[in-house]
Amino acid sequence: MENVVIIGSGPAGWTAALYAARANLNPVVLTGAQPGGLLTTTSIVENFPGFPEGVDGTELMMRMQKQAERFGAQTQYGALVTKVDLSRRPFKVWLDEDVIETKTLIIAAGASHKHLGLKNEDLLEKKGVTYCATCDGALPMFRNQPLVVVGGGDSACEEATYLTRFASKVYLVHRRNELRASRIMAERALGNPKIQPVWDSVVEDIYDVSKDMVTGVKLKNVKTGQTSDLACAGVFVAIGHMPNTAIFKGQIEIADDGYIICKKGTQTSVPGVFACGDCVDRTYRQAITAAGTGCSAAIDAERFLGHEGH
Ligand code: NAP
Repeated sequence: MENVVIIGSGPAGWTAALYAARANLNPVVLTGAQPGGLLTTTSIVENFPGFPEGVDGTELMMRMQKQAERFGAQTQYGALVTKVDLSRRPFKVWLDEDVIETKTLIIAAGASHKHLGLKNEDLLEKKGVTYCATCDGALPMFRNQPLVVVGGGDSACEEATYLTRFASKVYLVHRRNELRASRIMAERALGNPKIQPVWDSVVEDIYDVSKDMVTGVKLKNVKTGQTSDLACAGVFVAIGHMPNTAIFKGQIEIADDGYIICKKGTQTSVPGVFACGDCVDRTYRQAITAAGTGCSAAIDAERFLGHEGH
C-alpha cells in the first residue's frame, strides 16, 4: 500500500514528488509514455526562474526528477495507467495487469497536443504532419522547404521561429488577424524575415495522401470564404492542448472541456484525490505554475494523510 501515487512526470508531477518525498511519504511516480511530459518536446525554456541563460526542457525535467529521487521518490517508467478505481479507499491504479493500491492519488497527467480534426491530417502524421517542431524540425524532409505552422499562441510562434533554422520559409497560419501569443514571442516571430503570417485563415485540407507525403495545404480565408492552395513540405500543428483526463471520467468531477475541477486548493471531488498542472489549469499553463500546483497537491496530500492519522 502506497501513501501517495503520482500520475504524470511533468513539472507538476516532479514537484509533487519532491515535496511528498521530503515529507517522508515515499511517493511513487508513474511517468507515463513520455517521461518529463510536454516540456521535453520544447527547446530552450527561457521563463523558468533560476535559469538566467535558459535551460533545455529535457534537462530541466531530468533535474527535477533527480531532485525528487534524492529524497526517496520512486520512479516507474513507461507504464501506462489503464484504469483507476477511486470509488473507495484505498484507491486502485491499474498498470495493465498490475494494480497499485494507494491512500492518496495526485493526478498530474498533463495535456496532449490538439489535432485539427482533418482526415488527411491523421493519414499524413509523421509523413510531414507533426505536433512538435523541436522533435521533428531538423528532419531532412523539411530542410530548405517551405513549411506551415498552424496556430497563433506561444507554441505556434516558438515553433515557427525555431523552424526558420531549417526551412526556406515558414507560413504562420492563424484563424484571426491578431496573435494570442505573449508579446515577446509574437514580436520575435513577426520580426523574423523568414516568417510570413497568413491571417484570418484555417487549413481545410492537407495534400497529398496519394504521394504519402505533405506537398501543400488548402487554406480558407474565414472572412472572405475564399480558398487557396499553398505548397509546403510540412504542417506543424500548434493549436493548443487537451487535458489527459479520459481515464478519470465518471470517477471525479471533470468539466465539459476535460479539465479536472478542484474544490479547495488541489482537492478534487473525491477526498484524497488531488490534481495539479495542465490537467487542471486552462488559464496559465506554464511550467512554473504547474510546478507550483504540484507543490500544493503534495502539501494537500500530506495534510490529508495527517488528518486521517496515517
Ligand atoms: P494556446 O495559447 O491555447 O493557443 C492556441 C492557438 O491555436 C490560438 O491562437 C488559437 O486561436 C489556435 N487554435 C485553437 N484551436 C484551433 C483550431 N481548431 N484551428 C485553428 N487554430 C486553432 O496554446 P499554446 O500556444 O500551445 O500555449 C499553451 C500554453 O503554454 C499558453 O499558456 C502559453 O503561454 C504556454 N507556452 C509558453 C511558452 C513560453 O513561454 N516559452 C511556449 C509555449 C507555450 P485563437 O487565438 O483564435 O483562440
